[in-house]
Amino acid sequence: MRLDAIFTAVLDGKRIGFDEARTLYLEADFHELGALAHAVRLRKHPEPNVTYVVDRNINYSNICTCGCKFCAFYAAPGAEGGYVLDFDELDRKIAETVALGGTQILMQGGHHPDLPLSWYEDMLRHIKDNHPVHVHAFSPPEIMYFSELNGLEPAEVIRRLRAAGLDSIPGGGAEILVDKVRSEIAPRKCPTGEWLGVMEEAHNQGLRTTATMMFGHVETPEQRLEHLFAVREVQDRTGGFTAFIPWTFQPDHTALSHCRKLTSVEYLRMLAVSRIVLDNVDNVQVSWVTMGPDIAQLALFFGGNDFGSTMIEENVVKAAGVASAFRGKRFTASSRTRASRRASGQWTTPCWRTHDRPARQNRLPQRPAHLSSHRERAVRRRLPHRLRSPGRTQQADGRRQARRVRHFKH
Ligand code: SF4
Repeated sequence: MRLDAIFTAVLDGKRIGFDEARTLYLEADFHELGALAHAVRLRKHPEPNVTYVVDRNINYSNICTCGCKFCAFYAAPGAEGGYVLDFDELDRKIAETVALGGTQILMQGGHHPDLPLSWYEDMLRHIKDNHPVHVHAFSPPEIMYFSELNGLEPAEVIRRLRAAGLDSIPGGGAEILVDKVRSEIAPRKCPTGEWLGVMEEAHNQGLRTTATMMFGHVETPEQRLEHLFAVREVQDRTGGFTAFIPWTFQPDHTALSHCRKLTSVEYLRMLAVSRIVLDNVDNVQVSWVTMGPDIAQLALFFGGNDFGSTMIEENVVKAAGVASAFRGKRFTASSRTRASRRASGQWTTPCWRTHDRPARQNRLPQRPAHLSSHRERAVRRRLPHRLRSPGRTQQADGRRQARRVRHFKH
């Protein structure tokens, strides 16, 4: 399909396939691609809101047997700097989060070889008994590791964690969902099928999850697209992914430090294509931690609608030396989303609002539904003329050409 026809199909709400996505990703003009993704975002979210959540990333342990090449965070078992948080430290961090208005904690850790599943269950029960927070924890590779270490089926691990207080699962550890890439950068981590299988099982058990993509290392553009299509396929069956979060690989201090850092334009192109391909995922989250708040703000016009977390604490990206991975404040997300002329609305947890717990009241009135079609027409008007009506454009081109010919003849 030609580029013009793909734009028209997307604007008409049609689903695109792999070849069309590839054409868009590799050939579309940068600004036109952004405008197209923004039109799709406005169709899904006509209300003038950008969501975010006040939360903290707590890494309960950095001890890990996995040794992924892209990771600057882990410590091998027995190595200097390895830690496991005790429950008192955990309490202090969560109490501080709640005092700052936080409503969620995201917990992930390394693949610790000596902690049994009961340790994680105790930790969850302890948190739920003592703190009013949503617990978003344990990525699919962690769940697969618990499963192997304890000799249990992944479904049983999920059931037990859920019974102990797990509210939802973060989409970490996805990197690129193509086995050829995974075996190169993280050979000990679970393969693509297991990552997707854990998510599908979690969805079937009623848990909601996110999906991430870490791109910009050894993968090809086509492998990035394969990742999107793998997520879309599971989402067609389950509807359990609440948000998609693409972010760029940060190579400093890792075994892949020779990789070139992706530019903001490359990030925004991928974000825009993600919004267009993932027509069945409601929220696309921008990554202010890796791209900085200015590009994240711009990303709200390239398909993004969710500013993610304020990240009162973040350790993994910071270990790779990223300057913007610092303690966030609620007003940062709030002022950034307001400054982009999209009113901000803080949700208890944006992604779970329709599923697990009621959202805190949005502070701004919703726009009437009929405005969405006005907005879409406005976006169509802003798109270059040739993208709106290719047929007429060809006629105009023909007329222009004829005029040029006449001019030279005379
Ligand atoms: S990315 Fe996770 S699994 Fe891989 S080495 Fe780092 S902590 Fe371990």
